[in-house]
Amino acid sequence: MAHPSVNPIEEFVVDFVTSFGGEVESLEPAVYNLLLPDDLAIPAPKQELITVAFDPEALTERPQAELLISGSPLLDNLIDVARQQGRVARCFVTGLNLKVHGILHHFKRSFIFHEAEVAVSGTRSLLFLYGLFMFRISYVSDEKEEELCEIIVNCFDGRLARRLSSTLKTTALTEEIWDHCLMARAISVFEAYKIARAEVEKQLVGRINERRLDLEQRLTQQITRLTAYYDTARTELEETLTKYADDQKQQQTIKEKIQANELERQRIMQELRDKHRLEVLVSLTNLLLLSQPKVVVSLEVIGKKKQQNRVSVIWDPLEECFEPVQCPLCHKHTYELAISRMAQVGCPLCIERKNIPRLPL
Ligand SMILES: [Zn+2]
Repeated sequence: MAHPSVNPIEEFVVDFVTSFGGEVESLEPAVYNLLLPDDLAIPAPKQELITVAFDPEALTERPQAELLISGSPLLDNLIDVARQQGRVARCFVTGLNLKVHGILHHFKRSFIFHEAEVAVSGTRSLLFLYGLFMFRISYVSDEKEEELCEIIVNCFDGRLARRLSSTLKTTALTEEIWDHCLMARAISVFEAYKIARAEVEKQLVGRINERRLDLEQRLTQQITRLTAYYDTARTELEETLTKYADDQKQQQTIKEKIQANELERQRIMQELRDKHRLEVLVSLTNLLLLSQPKVVVSLEVIGKKKQQNRVSVIWDPLEECFEPVQCPLCHKHTYELAISRMAQVGCPLCIERKNIPRLPL
């Protein structure tokens, strides 16, 4: 298992080598011994036990370690092998306690239900689907850099599950299907992909702007340096031109040199601009479809006017908390609910409005 707060490349290598039958020994933060199976070890002749580092600073203490950053042959090989393993995998969270004691007490601690009495009428377990999308982001300009970015989508309601990645590090997973548990409703994997993709693009805006700014600064510096170089060359040639004012042949030769100098300047400037153009490629490398059992709690709600309705809330035994419910009127997720005179349940802001139709929560 990788150290906490590791970068995604480190996390990927540790998890992938382990899952591929290799051995990983953590020596210190960002430094590991890897015992690689044949398919993963490169270059030939195979060097099966290697020390790798994910932080250049670690190399001062361990100069023999191989630095695994984007573009390193070993990392490229691991990514290629991972890609060949099939892009979609399925697994299930196991070992969770689905019998929750004091569920009403937990509910009252998590939710505010305005002017209503609430009683638990039943519980049942359902499997809820998550999509764990791993994207590879390639930045191509005068150099190539790559990074991995994981986005997890809760396929029940399309919300991003930001904390799940760290929770899963200490969670038991299995490939065996929970055949005694039905699946809860889920959006399609493609819908979940669109949500994940939009989130990656949102996260990339800042990083792309930063890189563009850096590239522009480097381009400006190089253009300034080259402009000075070609200006000096031109000035020198023009001075020579005045020296040979009476020599037509020499003048012609120097004029040709000035023209060649200008053409070379334009060509090199164009090449520089092309090299400093940033291209960003985003590709989905892996998708893990993870099913997790949760407890659906049915509640009877009775308002002050004796109006009644039913509400279902979801207890997440992995995070040990209730999930927010979606208001059927404004579609926002909330921990605050109210019941109208017509027995409509929703967020207090929506319920305060009058003449609302009764919709299922
Ligand atoms: Zn609302």
